[in-house]
Amino acid sequence: MTNNAVITLNGITKSFGSTQVLKAISLDVKPGEVLVLIGASGSGKSTVLRIMSGLEIADGGEVWVNEVPLHDAKRAKEIRGHVGMVFQQFNLFPHKTALGNVTLALIKARKMSVSEANRRGMEALERVGLADRAGHYPSQLSGGQQQRVAIARALAVEPKIMFFDEATSALDPELVGEVTEVMRGLAREGMTMVVVTHEMGFARKTADRVVFMDKGVIAEQGSPEQIFVNPQNPRTQQFLSRVL
Ligand code: ADP
Ligand code: MG
Repeated sequence: MTNNAVITLNGITKSFGSTQVLKAISLDVKPGEVLVLIGASGSGKSTVLRIMSGLEIADGGEVWVNEVPLHDAKRAKEIRGHVGMVFQQFNLFPHKTALGNVTLALIKARKMSVSEANRRGMEALERVGLADRAGHYPSQLSGGQQQRVAIARALAVEPKIMFFDEATSALDPELVGEVTEVMRGLAREGMTMVVVTHEMGFARKTADRVVFMDKGVIAEQGSPEQIFVNPQNPRTQQFLSRVL
């Protein structure tokens, strides 16, 4: 690679059956950049994230993440331990405490000792402001707290990149702020982040760059100012007039 990007997509295509959902997507993400993907449901945002995190293999084009060629199915697994993913569904184990959820992968996949995993796990819970809830079970936590535990679980592996796919969409409106505040904190610390969200306030305040996707293509991208104040593409204008 010739640029200093941590993520490079070059002409990425992806179809499911006869439907082409990504049509030659090209995109770079720089170290420490917060990239926010917006667009209507079905425009291909989650597929882009899944390809960037090695969960899905592109049909054509190149994907480089941390210098791993993810277009090569044999090598896609190499990225797993280096990126963190946070989804709409928290997927916490109900019979494990917050700390138990955060340390599980460290102990099982990383073969870390329990004491070392607990130390790392507590650090991660501290970063999301939940050190005092370490012994609580998911059912004893609010939705916002559960999602923060899920963020701590992703952070515990010390990822180079964090991916968020509608991380606040399942939350009651009054719980969204505590999760976006944690995300904002990570951004301030210099974490490289790719965020799919419907929270336009978050995009405006936190994104370095906003990418608007429409039917499998990048229809427009720019600074939050450019996209929200002065969008050029009629489709961007139409999308924003519906969501803002
Ligand atoms: P978004 O996240 O923007 O809503 P997605 O990337 O989830 O969009 O989906 C883009 C399109 O691809 C949609 O039409 C969706 O139905 C389709 N799609 C996504 N994943 C699959 C899959 N595993 N199998 C079949 N179709 C899929
Ligand atoms: Mg999606």
